[in-house]
Amino acid sequence: MAIRAVAVIGAGTMGAGIAQVCAQAGWDTRLFDSFPESLERGMCSIEEFWNKGIELGKTSSEQKNGWMTSLVAVSNISDAVDGVDLVVEAVPEKMGLKQEIFRELEVIAPPHAILATNTSGLKISMIAQSTGCPERVIGMHFFNPVPVMPLLEIVKHDEASPETIEVARDVAEAMGKTSILVRDIPGFATSRLGVVLGNEAIRMLSEGVASASDIDTAMRLGYRHPMGPLELSDLVGLDVRMDILNSLAEAFDDESYRPHPLLEELVKSGFLGKKTGRGIYDWSSGEKREVQD
Ligand code: NAD
Repeated sequence: MAIRAVAVIGAGTMGAGIAQVCAQAGWDTRLFDSFPESLERGMCSIEEFWNKGIELGKTSSEQKNGWMTSLVAVSNISDAVDGVDLVVEAVPEKMGLKQEIFRELEVIAPPHAILATNTSGLKISMIAQSTGCPERVIGMHFFNPVPVMPLLEIVKHDEASPETIEVARDVAEAMGKTSILVRDIPGFATSRLGVVLGNEAIRMLSEGVASASDIDTAMRLGYRHPMGPLELSDLVGLDVRMDILNSLAEAFDDESYRPHPLLEELVKSGFLGKKTGRGIYDWSSGEKREVQD
């Protein structure tokens, strides 16, 4: 099936990035969010990204104008999915919320549309089985920042049809991304390793093993990770990481996955990472700084 039109549900960190790459792939792209201010923020962040590209000489004004024409902010979910071939859901990592949205999508999206979730670690089959069309449901796990990261992790549950998997592969290719195919085991191949590393780094920080930047430098220079686990946690969002850890603890019935108390404390204080100006690091100046208090 050729993709012509796509709807992205949720205009946060990931949804905005996914809508951006869909527009860049030349598809008629509708971005929806149930909060008008989030939708506005998502659209602004995409335009900022493109403006920056023009400043750096990576994007031409003609390209930006073309992409802007393909991308529309839509404030009603039914209008957003009208006539689309693919829906990508990127709302917060809550099983109940995602199931509710997929039940609605089954009713309002065209019957041929592929319904993808960008969950970082929830079981795709539990989302798929909340609909009467599990064969059309698939995990399409993008990485942050979506326009930059070259991987798309496709997560197939047992009832996903071969055509759904093929379309997901084609979507990755059209976006210029490399896809991997992973079984529907919570945390998939990426998040499970990523959150465990991040949680352990937070434990080490709380034990005073080293400063945040020294722990990050250890992994960058000692293990050739492009970014340290603490900085990456701030970039992803500490709330997002905490939700993944809790869902892994529940899915595997294993308390060792639970978020470290320092992570819980930061989230409770609203220090969610770069997006709120403070997480493990202080980002209030726009640059990463060690927290002083
Ligand atoms: P986010 O909090 O930045 O964005 C979520 C958006 O969903 C918000 O704009 C919110 O207003 C909107 N929303 C909430 N309820 C909604 C509803 N009922 N209908 C429509 N929109 C609604 O979160 P995020 O970081 O973009 O994460 C979204 C999903 O992507 C999660 O499942 C997360 O686990 C996954 N994910 C996140 C990352 C990351 O690095 N942040 C990476 C890969 C996958």
